Amino acid sequence: MSNADKMYISYNNIHKLCQKIAKQILERNERPDIIIAITGGGMIPARIIRSFLKVKGQKNIPIQAIGLSLYEDLGLDTTVETIGKEVIRTQWLDFMALDKHFDSLIGKKVLIVDEVDDTRTTLHYAVSELEKEVVEQQKRLNRLDEETLFSVFVLHNKDKPKKADLPKEMLESGRYLAAVTVPDKWLCYPWEAEDIEEHTNLAKLQGND
Ligand code: 5GP
Repeated sequence: MSNADKMYISYNNIHKLCQKIAKQILERNERPDIIIAITGGGMIPARIIRSFLKVKGQKNIPIQAIGLSLYEDLGLDTTVETIGKEVIRTQWLDFMALDKHFDSLIGKKVLIVDEVDDTRTTLHYAVSELEKEVVEQQKRLNRLDEETLFSVFVLHNKDKPKKADLPKEMLESGRYLAAVTVPDKWLCYPWEAEDIEEHTNLAKLQGND
């Protein structure tokens, strides 16, 4: 693949994209109670956006990580749990920490963060499994009348036909937040760069700094 087929993204650019989306979230009065980062690509954006969502006098928003990999990207390993046909769950919510410090996800505003929405398979899986998790908790605790609001934040949404959906209501109510919609090219993120100076220069040349 030549450099022209790739989009280089700098750390500065990512910082600014997180800032832009945080501003939108705060303007909509939808500051999340918890951020769920999809590892590993969602971790750095999740950490950055948390700072921009900080409100004086309020506690830092907790971040939990969930690990999802597409089947095709992994050599199968007996230590991971195979759930669907396409997505493998390598890490899930830390319920002990949630119970101890946070109550539960029920009735909360939950922001799910990943770096890129490519085929949408991963985001579909994350949203639908987390929704199921909450419904189970609601039944268990008899708290069926509390509404949990899931939002999604990605740095980049690739403009292409998707293989899976997100809830219509989420898309229509502005709770799907993609900082930029990009053509269907390979995105090179700075955390994967071997030479960060060269990477940053290439990002600058493409206007992604
Ligand atoms: P999905 O197809 O489920 O939307 O995306 C699956 C995962 O593939 C993403 O979370 C991301 O880790 C990876 N991925 C998809 N497209 C790109 C890309 O252009 N660049 C990088 N670095 N990773 C990508």
